[in-house]
Amino acid sequence: MTAEIIDGRIISEQVLSELAPRLSRLKEEGVVPSLAVVLVGENPSSASYVRSKERACEKVGISSVVHRLPDSVKQKELIDLVKRLNADRGVHGILVQLPLPNHIDESSVIETVLPAKDVDGFSPVNMGRLLAGQDCFAPCTPLGVIELLNRSGHSPEGKYVVIIGRSNIVGKPLAALLIQKKKGGNATVTVCHSATKNLAGITKQADILVAAVGKPGFVTADMVKHGCVVIDVGMNSIPDASSKSGHRLIGDVDFERVKNVAGALTPVPGGVGLMTVAMLISNTVKAAENSGQ
Ligand code: NAP
Repeated sequence: MTAEIIDGRIISEQVLSELAPRLSRLKEEGVVPSLAVVLVGENPSSASYVRSKERACEKVGISSVVHRLPDSVKQKELIDLVKRLNADRGVHGILVQLPLPNHIDESSVIETVLPAKDVDGFSPVNMGRLLAGQDCFAPCTPLGVIELLNRSGHSPEGKYVVIIGRSNIVGKPLAALLIQKKKGGNATVTVCHSATKNLAGITKQADILVAAVGKPGFVTADMVKHGCVVIDVGMNSIPDASSKSGHRLIGDVDFERVKNVAGALTPVPGGVGLMTVAMLISNTVKAAENSGQ
């Protein structure tokens, strides 16, 4: 048996095309959703993520402005920029690309972003609302995973989901979304991390297994139950002499072997990454709609 490949390209296109009527309505009101992206330093991965977000905004017709700051930027200068963007009525969404340089306290910067413009969903206010089951901006990658599951016919309702990884941007908010008592949620969830004992014993019970570890090929075939739906969040750049750039992107799942055991599987690239960008656009449209209320 070879697993069904869950195509993030098709599903992200669906999400984006469904935004068209909402964008038209906003246009009639004279509103073009606008995303401000703050990029600090020269991290090549961050620069590449920001480029893909800019391209996606352009494609659907929303405005994006990238504010580039040097690695040496002082925390106060960065926070002052975020405050100016908070106050700018022409900016609907603000995204501060992470990671930030070591001398900057990430939490202070994230907490400065106005919750109504926090389209990344990282601010403590949005995190709290998410946990409380209230309307909020949820982080884009976990939102994308939920959309991928539901739109590919693998609803998490009533399923046992195991997530490997407990970061604030993936594992924790994904668990919060999956346990929500509403359509698209209603899963039973276990979150594993580096101190989890007998990891394979737990992952082998999962109906749906999500890998968000940051280690290439970490999930091996012997960790996966026959027929399991495997979602690979990992994005790891590894050296590859045969590629023009000298490297290539691989996930946290040993794709070639796991596809012989899993029932369905997301590829890297072409899976969760595209959904993250689509959900960012979706959150920005929602922020623009909310700004008129
Ligand atoms: P992170 O903050 O580094 O978290 C990694 C998690 O994996 C941690 O909770 C860590 O446990 C856990 N872990 C590490 N080694 C483990 C082990 N041996 N056994 C069990 N758990 C282990 O990473 P992240 O920001 O969540 O990102 C995870 C991956 O997703 C990365 O490859 C990243 O590039 C990718 N990503 C992709 C997207 C996308 O759009 N596709 C978006 C965000 C991130 P501890 O907490 O105990 O350290």
